[in-house]
Amino acid sequence: MGKVNKGAGAIADVIVAGAGPAGTNAALAAAASGLDVVLLDEQDAAGGQVWRKPLDGLNGLPETAELKAGNALRERLIASNVRFLPGRRIWSVSGQYRVDVIGADNPEFFEAPHLIAATGAHERVVPFEGWTLPGVIGLAGATTLIKSGGIVPGNRIVVAGSGPLLTAVAAGILKLGGTVAAVVDIAPLGAWLKALPALASVPSLLAQGAVWTLAIGRARVPVYRGHAVVRALGNGRLEQVVIGPVDAAGAPVAGSDAFTIDADCLCVGNGLVAGSDITRCLRAGHTYDRLRGGVVPVLDDAGRTSRAGLYACGDGYGIRGAAMAESAGVLAGLAAACDAGAISAEEMQRRAAPHRATFAARRRFSDAMAGMMALRPEQVRAIAPETVVCRCEDITRGAIDAAIAAGAKDLNQLKHFTRCGMGPCQARMCGDVVAELLAIGTGDRAALGALTMRPPLRPVPLEALLGDFSYSDIPIPEPAPL
Ligand SMILES: Cc1cc2nc3c(=O)[nH]c(=O)nc-3n(C[C@H](O)[C@H](O)[C@H](O)COP(=O)(O)OP(=O)(O)OC[C@H]3O[C@@H](n4cnc5c(N)ncnc54)[C@H](O)[C@@H]3O)c2cc1C
Repeated sequence: MGKVNKGAGAIADVIVAGAGPAGTNAALAAAASGLDVVLLDEQDAAGGQVWRKPLDGLNGLPETAELKAGNALRERLIASNVRFLPGRRIWSVSGQYRVDVIGADNPEFFEAPHLIAATGAHERVVPFEGWTLPGVIGLAGATTLIKSGGIVPGNRIVVAGSGPLLTAVAAGILKLGGTVAAVVDIAPLGAWLKALPALASVPSLLAQGAVWTLAIGRARVPVYRGHAVVRALGNGRLEQVVIGPVDAAGAPVAGSDAFTIDADCLCVGNGLVAGSDITRCLRAGHTYDRLRGGVVPVLDDAGRTSRAGLYACGDGYGIRGAAMAESAGVLAGLAAACDAGAISAEEMQRRAAPHRATFAARRRFSDAMAGMMALRPEQVRAIAPETVVCRCEDITRGAIDAAIAAGAKDLNQLKHFTRCGMGPCQARMCGDVVAELLAIGTGDRAALGALTMRPPLRPVPLEALLGDFSYSDIPIPEPAPL
């Protein structure tokens, strides 16, 4: 008789989900307080998105500040007693608390009374005609190629969208010897000038941005501010990008001239969405925060959610950037240690103080950056009816509007009517834009909440869960009497 492969189990004091700047710091803080901590990540190394480790054996990549910061974090982790388990994809969270993962070979599960969710953000692309053509990739995804593999994603690249990743990606491509055909920034120059005093509140990051901007200028890359991608064209793959001017709200300027740029790669992204999958799955309290990237858990000032023993930190729970993710991670780790009785409340406050100070000092900078990346509703309104919005299920804007007209009033109804958000990405790519489309009619985005989150949080191969089941093991019920 076959059996379901539940995998091996392990018990700890604290489980930390995600080994980016937030999760790794949370794990280190909890472990330094004497707790047994398991840190899980689907990547092969700690560092998360921003401090991603280059693939093994890749030498000669530029030694950036981010690579150095990542290496320092990884060394601290090795020197600690945290049980770091890379290559583990979390697909289910349940109970109080059980975390199920798929590893290289087998499923495993971990149980602990304290769970810290630090799974980071994912990127937002506001759809346009042709965005599913091969050759069009995400802006944040491009950083992954650049950092992990030193890969230039095309021969002639247009970098488009919003926020600081535009300059980071364009400068990264140039540094690797690639060709950037244009940078297309939805924000007008005035918006950056307005943000400048806030950006100057963290001089090191402002200086880094200035270095990237100078590199783009030196390479004589045309920069189109107050512009956005209108459509991507090509026969089977990207050949041209059509761009046009937008107004301050991100809406195309009617009657203005669009123009075409030859390119074989378009890196495009419109900010980040907080990936609050775990806390949503566990039904903690949430709120909508446009500046912070969508639906985020309600947290106290140490990262405690509304559920006992469940904490959240980092960009997955509100877009703030790497430095604040580190501090938020330490605070959540200390809170778990305090709640577990490993340190006193006074000790927690003492150790938390410098991190609260960092958090406060970075707030202006992070608010300004988050503002540049926030979703622009007018850009969503401009999506054409024939444009695919949910690319997993091939659902167009027109089909979504038709479902709304037919009576779909909330996000789950819209999902039932159209299947949008039911594909492998589980709405990570389309969910925020679909909610915005629904809000055009209802007028209240915050009241829409979020799609109900259920496992699997990530695609799981059935084979990995089935163990030694075979067809003959499937119980066939007696046929019902006619
Ligand atoms: C694709 C991408 C690229 C980015 N690149 C940059 C950049 O170049 N520069 C910059 O300043 N900011 C970048 N950001 C923003 C970045 O999110 C933050 O500034 C910073 O990394 C936040 O740290 P964090 O620890 O909160 O999250 P992250 O660094 O994102 O770490 C989260 C970790 O959780 C893991 N994880 C998530 N889900 C699961 C799961 N189900 N199972 C197992 N592990 C999981 C991830 O593998 C990741 O290692 C990027 C964001 C994205 C989405």
